[in-house]
Amino acid sequence: MSASELSAAAATPHQPAPNLDGALCLACLGEYGPCKLPGLKQCKSCGFITADLAMSDEALAALYGEDYFHGEEYRDYVSEEDSLKDNFRRRIKTLQQLIPNLSKTDVFEVGCAYGFFLDEVKGDVASAKGIDISADAVAHARANKGVDAIAGSYSDYLVEPRVGLVAMWDTVEHLPRPDLFIHKAQRDLLPGGHIAITTGDIDSLNARMRGKHWRMIHPPTHLHYFSVATLRRMLERNGFEVVHVSHPGNARDLRSILHFILDLRLGWGGLYRRIAKWRIFDLSISMNLFDIMFVVARRKA
Ligand SMILES: [Zn+2]
Repeated sequence: MSASELSAAAATPHQPAPNLDGALCLACLGEYGPCKLPGLKQCKSCGFITADLAMSDEALAALYGEDYFHGEEYRDYVSEEDSLKDNFRRRIKTLQQLIPNLSKTDVFEVGCAYGFFLDEVKGDVASAKGIDISADAVAHARANKGVDAIAGSYSDYLVEPRVGLVAMWDTVEHLPRPDLFIHKAQRDLLPGGHIAITTGDIDSLNARMRGKHWRMIHPPTHLHYFSVATLRRMLERNGFEVVHVSHPGNARDLRSILHFILDLRLGWGGLYRRIAKWRIFDLSISMNLFDIMFVVARRKA
């Protein structure tokens, strides 16, 4: 019996088949084949795209440029608090429409970072708690926001009692095994509870036009490149049904956009540093390239 047959034999609707070494597709257990984007591989069956970790860091750097390894998406996460909170506020509004009893719901955030979401949501829900692998970020969240954040690995943390909403903002693309985190969230949720996820959409028009230059493609920081279809597949395999898909815009401060374009994209760091202190760049603008998806799914009873 092949590994895939063994896995398929062990599968039940709510207990996904083991894929212990992650050698099979994390969304459907299909086999990976080549991808037209360099350094990535693609499931022959469902189209899920993931980093080819057999490739050395040096080979990836040669393909994608060194900036992908030290260039962060966020110039300075803490200084962008206001625009990040605007983004969270809009997502909370969507969640209120989808989950009528949100005010009575306990929320758990995986990857809570500096606690901005926990701080923004805590007045709208019964309780809000989160976990992050970064001890520094969690210390900041607790000290400056007074939120209930824990430093550690979600895989090792039992959420007890179970909650009504698990949030993973811009997190699944970074995880070695997003399928296992989604599986664990299914366990940590009450029946009928929801999971809310944002991540890049590699099937979006912008991603397809940009190809390997799409700003979200930077292995090994970003390991996985979902489409609506492949994220849906992973959620359904783990006992969820998708109830909402949208591509909301994000507010960013102009300074971060300037940093991204001048310093990271064009390598004009000197120019960036000369003009970055201009107060005009304090402004925040909302932009929507329709390539970030917001997906909410409900745990099947
Ligand atoms: Zn697949």
